[in-house]
Amino acid sequence: MPPILELIGLRKRFGALDALADVSLSVAPGELVFVLGPSGSGKSTMLRCCNLLERPDEGAVVLEGRDIAARGVDLDAARKRIGMVFQAFNLYPHLSALANVTLALRKALRLPRAEAEARGMAALDRVGLADKARNMPGQLSGGQQQRVAIARAMALEPAVMLFDEPTSALDPELVDEVLAVMRELRAAGMTMLVVSHEMRFARAAADRVVFMDRGAVVEQGPPERIFEAPRSERLRAFLSRRA
Ligand code: ADP
Ligand code: MG
Repeated sequence: MPPILELIGLRKRFGALDALADVSLSVAPGELVFVLGPSGSGKSTMLRCCNLLERPDEGAVVLEGRDIAARGVDLDAARKRIGMVFQAFNLYPHLSALANVTLALRKALRLPRAEAEARGMAALDRVGLADKARNMPGQLSGGQQQRVAIARAMALEPAVMLFDEPTSALDPELVDEVLAVMRELRAAGMTMLVVSHEMRFARAAADRVVFMDRGAVVEQGPPERIFEAPRSERLRAFLSRRA
């Protein structure tokens, strides 16, 4: 099957720093690709290039067969095909869980209120929060807020979902409920690119693990191979520090 998302030769500089040196990566439909690497290795920059929150200096971001990093592409249309979930949930504090989800639907897809609410409720139901639809973010736990953020992204029915350390801001006891939702998404066939430090999740749910260091993909492979038989010295050192 052709990849649903393909990054080809991405470069991104911040001043003198090569945040992405030459990153190529492809994600097949329904695949969960897990990205790990030290802090500052370019993981967030790579994800942000996928939906053009950062514009790469060089390279292509081919989404569903089209280079969305090329000049003249309708970015709003392309971004609707990519859902993103951040470490900080970024919910509007003055809007209910449901209103946070429907706002995206009404703004991005221009759905009428009733249809947006029906779709919003279905999305909240998928993350197990239909009964919290009227709660304000302040009345939800961190794990629940992150599940609302996932519902908000999913409601747009994107082709790919990007996750940037989705559990890093959570108390440890709240991590599993978010990972469980992500596993359900994967089981339902969602294509996912996940930056995280949750190695147990990578072992249990990833189709492929990509190790980045200093703005480059150093090594990639199935989780067992990456964790049991790392080939590069840099990956071995990274894993031993985290063990
Ligand atoms: P990671 O997510 O792997 O921790 P990042 O992609 O956030 O890494 O950052 C990669 C490098 O680029 C880091 O050295 C970081 O300081 C730098 N960087 C990221 N964003 C910017 C920016 N907007 N301006 C300047 N430097 C940045
Ligand atoms: Mg980061």
